[in-house]
Amino acid sequence: MRIDDQEIQNALRFCWGCKDCSGIRLDDQCPLQFLHRGVDFSARGIISMVRSIRERQVSLSKEMAEYIFREPLCGRCSASCEAAIDVPMVIRTLRADLVDAGLGPLANHRPLIQGMRNYSNPWMLPRSRRADWAKGLGIKDAGKEDVDVLYYVGCTAASDRGLNGVAQSTAGVLKEAGVDFGILGTRENCCGTIAYQLGDWDFLYRQGKANLESLNNTKAKRIVTACAGCFKMLKSVYPKMGVGRTDAEVLHLSEYMVELLGEGRITFKRQLPLKVTYHDPCHMGRESGISGGRQAGVYDAPRQAIAAIPGVELIEMERTREKSWCCGAGGGLKSGDMNASSQIARPRVKEAEKTGAELLLSTCPFCEQQFRDGMKAAAVPMRTADIVELVREAT
Ligand code: SF4
Ligand code: SF4
Repeated sequence: MRIDDQEIQNALRFCWGCKDCSGIRLDDQCPLQFLHRGVDFSARGIISMVRSIRERQVSLSKEMAEYIFREPLCGRCSASCEAAIDVPMVIRTLRADLVDAGLGPLANHRPLIQGMRNYSNPWMLPRSRRADWAKGLGIKDAGKEDVDVLYYVGCTAASDRGLNGVAQSTAGVLKEAGVDFGILGTRENCCGTIAYQLGDWDFLYRQGKANLESLNNTKAKRIVTACAGCFKMLKSVYPKMGVGRTDAEVLHLSEYMVELLGEGRITFKRQLPLKVTYHDPCHMGRESGISGGRQAGVYDAPRQAIAAIPGVELIEMERTREKSWCCGAGGGLKSGDMNASSQIARPRVKEAEKTGAELLLSTCPFCEQQFRDGMKAAAVPMRTADIVELVREAT
């Protein structure tokens, strides 16, 4: 049983039930508390449940799976926990045990898993169409030609037509900056984040190995991705889960853009007189796994890239950085329970609207997808985009 692992045992030992992660103090911070006000649906409650499972007072069950697989795994609780307990990891581990017991994930999650297994893409885009977004752009094939930088596109930006612009803008910015880069095109594999979050860890291991092999077969010295989820997987989850390490250094595109800006390789031709606000994706911040996954994360680079665009004014939301409110799409919640996921997105798009900004920026195609839907549902008259799309517009 995985919840017997040392890391989980330590979490159970060091959680002293202080309630910093639950109750009134976090109901505007913990999406789970927000959804179930008045009930102890919190990190503390989950840890207490896992303790009861270990002590054999409670058994794994279908009812438990219905609850545990409706979690955004945002990590906000861990950012408030003085004992630095990695609560999402405790939840993922319990999910892995539920999957092993044949009790999870939810029925709505099955298509994602099947997509990963059959297409190496949870959105079921056939391999042959994975690089359609790049047609006519003259991008090098990093599997055949040597390149300095490998742009790892990821499934979401490659599959969602509304997000193809993120991939095209990334290629455009890299090209303008004179970067020698390429993509793996139809040979690119899924990073496996869905398998990681949904507790299908045997598949995560196989998928991660296949991905690592294709990445390490190139001569690139750096791997750049515009997807917060892919970034987290390649940078910290693969080593942590025993999949392995990439030979090349992994950077999020926002970090790389700041480097290129510093070297004067990204230059702007246009002013964009826009008020914008920025959402910190969980996978870039608290859940990036950088510095133990607690409070450190990539918070400054996206803001520096925004600040460099002439004419753009950044107005911050109330909850930012490690205290950022989750978009509600993570942990498989969007596909598992669309209604709960939308309820979590709503206060975030409202918070963005309150700033008076006209554009909500992010660095994660998953968040962008969620805000696009959330703005429509809440009738919020704003647009959402990735930072790189704005940078591209101004260059
Ligand atoms: S804040 Fe940490 S120690 Fe306190 S109850 Fe929550 S998980 Fe346990
Ligand atoms: S991971 Fe997020 S939703 Fe889950 S208990 Fe922690 S704060 Fe709440």
